[in-house]
Amino acid sequence: METTEKLLQDYYLDLEAKHGAHNYKPLPVVLERGLGAYLWDVNGKKYYDFLSAYSAVNQGHCHPKIIGALQNQSSKLTLTSRAFHNNVLGGFEKFLTNLFGYNKCLPMNSGVEAGETAVKLARKWGYEIKGIKKNAAKIIFPEGNFWGRTLAAISSSTDPASYNGFGPFMPGYEIIPYNNVHVLEKKLSDPNCAAFMFEPIQGEAGVIVPDEGYLRKVRLLCSKYNVLMIADEIQTGIGRTGKMLATDYEEARPDILVLGKALSGGVMPVSVVLCDDPIMMCLRPGEHGSTFGGNPLSASVASAALKVIIDENLTQNAYHLGKIFRSQLEEFIKGTKLVKLVRGKGLLNAIVINDSPEGDTAWNICLKLRDNGLLAKPTHGNIIRFAPPLVIKEEQLIDCIKIITETLKIFEPDS
Ligand code: PLP
Repeated sequence: METTEKLLQDYYLDLEAKHGAHNYKPLPVVLERGLGAYLWDVNGKKYYDFLSAYSAVNQGHCHPKIIGALQNQSSKLTLTSRAFHNNVLGGFEKFLTNLFGYNKCLPMNSGVEAGETAVKLARKWGYEIKGIKKNAAKIIFPEGNFWGRTLAAISSSTDPASYNGFGPFMPGYEIIPYNNVHVLEKKLSDPNCAAFMFEPIQGEAGVIVPDEGYLRKVRLLCSKYNVLMIADEIQTGIGRTGKMLATDYEEARPDILVLGKALSGGVMPVSVVLCDDPIMMCLRPGEHGSTFGGNPLSASVASAALKVIIDENLTQNAYHLGKIFRSQLEEFIKGTKLVKLVRGKGLLNAIVINDSPEGDTAWNICLKLRDNGLLAKPTHGNIIRFAPPLVIKEEQLIDCIKIITETLKIFEPDS
């Protein structure tokens, strides 16, 4: 990097370091513009985005149809609160419930709020419908789960970086191993169990894909014991894994479906909880809400964002390109000691680097990938997630595979 370019970058890094909380450790790159699968930094350098804002930008950066909806609606009406009706929300709710096949939806903003809404709904249903006695409801989570940073969310976390120093925690949670149906069955047979909340692929944990059959078995067990199956598809949903929902792979329809991130194409925070009337109608006026939830701006942006996924066949693209990506990387790693494995579904993939989670190899690889024009970020120290926008074209993906493999070769122990 030239001195003047470095000075400009450092100007922005210093501003954030001085005036912002240090609760993130971003890769040193300062972005200014995005379009489709590309990002540009403040010096005009172009990158492929291989994170997609943690799978929020499935439709690509600044998609004209989504930005069009934003511009159009923002000049008419943005927020009324739910004290009044607006003329956009109902249409969005109809579209969403028809698309995903549920009676009702409840819009919120961030993903964690939707997760918390799902937990509240499950408790309420547990008391009012299942007949669990007051304050005894249990929600089961698998190890490695991630659904955000509020106290309710970190109370279910098994990652010390998430929960250390923030206790006391929320009661009524139990943790079991992920991808283990035997332990799950034991827990679900407890009559106080209201719900099992899980991700069909654990994104933040490092793109952990459960065994084939797990999702189907979770569905069967939840039905057998009258326990709600809550699928957190905030990261896996909206086409990311090559199906509209990751649970579609095993036709395991959740009782409560939680969506966020790409629901708005990364344009603004929009999340939603979907379920049928026997669950949703447990909530009555005044029992839950959010000033911004269901605002007309979010509703029109999210409608446009979902239409882009459908109209541009982005789910199919993710399925097709994901297969190419994994097969080429699997072929490549046969000859390496650096990469232990490649895993994922659709365009939600990761490689595991042969280093301890405390090591810095994955971080250094990401720095080099950045220099070579591709942005990715390690998770849990030695895992690198690769999740480009779903609008990426096959020739672009092939170009990216070349950048990734050429970069990995530099770090090969014997090279
Ligand atoms: N659930 C899952 C599976 C996630 O990956 C995330 C964020 O990464 C969340 C929930 C929380 O979403 P948000 O950061 O919008 O609160």
